[in-house]
Amino acid sequence: MHETALPTDRHLSTSQLKQRSNPSKVIKVRAAFDNASRQETALVRKLGSCLRCRGRKERCKPDILNPNGECINCALTSLSVHQIPCIRTRIPQVSLYHTVTTENDTWTIRPEIFGTEPTELSSALHTGVKILELTQDYGKPLVVRVTEFIPVDGDQTSYIWSIDGAELELPMPCYAITNIPETKAAMETYMVQNLERYIDSFIDRNDSVVWATFQIAIHRARYRNSILLQKMLRLWIASRMVEKAWHICGRETLGLSHADTAGTPYEGKIPIPPVMDSQFDQIMVRFILNPLRAQVLKILDSRITPGKRSEWFETYLVVSLLLNSITLSTAHDHKFAKLHRHVAAGRGSRFEDYNLIESYFHGAQVLIAHFRVIINGHRPLQSGSPDQIMISHEDLDDKEVRYITMIHSQLDTAISTANFLRKHNRYENIMYWTPNLFSTSWDPSPIYIKELEEGEADLIGSY
Ligand SMILES: [Zn+2]
Ligand SMILES: [Zn+2]
Repeated sequence: MHETALPTDRHLSTSQLKQRSNPSKVIKVRAAFDNASRQETALVRKLGSCLRCRGRKERCKPDILNPNGECINCALTSLSVHQIPCIRTRIPQVSLYHTVTTENDTWTIRPEIFGTEPTELSSALHTGVKILELTQDYGKPLVVRVTEFIPVDGDQTSYIWSIDGAELELPMPCYAITNIPETKAAMETYMVQNLERYIDSFIDRNDSVVWATFQIAIHRARYRNSILLQKMLRLWIASRMVEKAWHICGRETLGLSHADTAGTPYEGKIPIPPVMDSQFDQIMVRFILNPLRAQVLKILDSRITPGKRSEWFETYLVVSLLLNSITLSTAHDHKFAKLHRHVAAGRGSRFEDYNLIESYFHGAQVLIAHFRVIINGHRPLQSGSPDQIMISHEDLDDKEVRYITMIHSQLDTAISTANFLRKHNRYENIMYWTPNLFSTSWDPSPIYIKELEEGEADLIGSY
């Protein structure tokens, strides 16, 4: 912070001389100045400096009257050709999945599940321990040990739904996970075993840019031993797992059969008991997703923020996969709202949680902004760009070079697809974000959700 030196009498203006002759006024003016300056400094400390000011090494001056709006520097240069957005969110703060669970959407409010660390239920009986095989419809099953428990107030022990105003109920046996660390380890093994099956199910091979990006990420994680990409791929599959329901697929079914679920919303499947579902959710979020998200974003930040361009290719792959994950989470929320025909108060029926989805959009823009503004990450993939030299300096093997050639050949199509999707608000489409990582222009303005127009109900995967 610059200290304002007191001018000597020789340089004082008439009004300043008048102030001098009235010391109480000087003190007041000075105090007001100090106070405003202190307020501004405190605000910058709280909000952080914006991307543009960081990039230009200027002192960020937030607008005290509108602290969440543009900073003073950006407001004064908002017509600048550089188009650097006034974004204060840092990479580690980017929102990637649903973390906050309210009492309304859980099956229990037990502190053993929602406390700082999920632990075994206090009313677990440890009798009749059974081994369950669970599936989300893809790949090898997840094997866990479960035990009976005595329900307490707030535990839901059946699934309830209504048809034509009549309430129907599917009673469920009271079983819960019995060994939390063992379950966490089983989930981690499951993630490694089933990664490719999940990619196969969520990514269409015809979306060649996205498909090839996943294949090259796996290649680099596995054969070139990239720790960052190994973590990134685990974060990606964990984000899918937490959005899908588990159901029982093995011989042990806790006394339930397919006949029990006939005519229910679970027809053809055997759901896991409600309390167990909450346990899975929390183990996944607290023990797997949160640490992975923190690690991936921290490493990514440590590569982008200091402006290091030496590991551009890996940085590009990680940001691509993060953007993909954001799109899939957006599509999931849309599907969920549609399935349950939910309408968000004051918003609409396109999403279940509008604030969450807009926070995903903000996160996507933050990632793209950092990638483009700080390391000029969009340049190397643009054909004919001088940054081709940068690619030649990367440690790339033949397969990776072939991937870059392939992306080059798809560049124009991918960019025009993304422009179309942005114009028509098709946030759920897999090509909505990624081409912004290599297009020549990018619109950094915030995205506020628009509802689908009549007849536009099924947009997922089509454009
Ligand atoms: Zn600023
Ligand atoms: Zn700014």
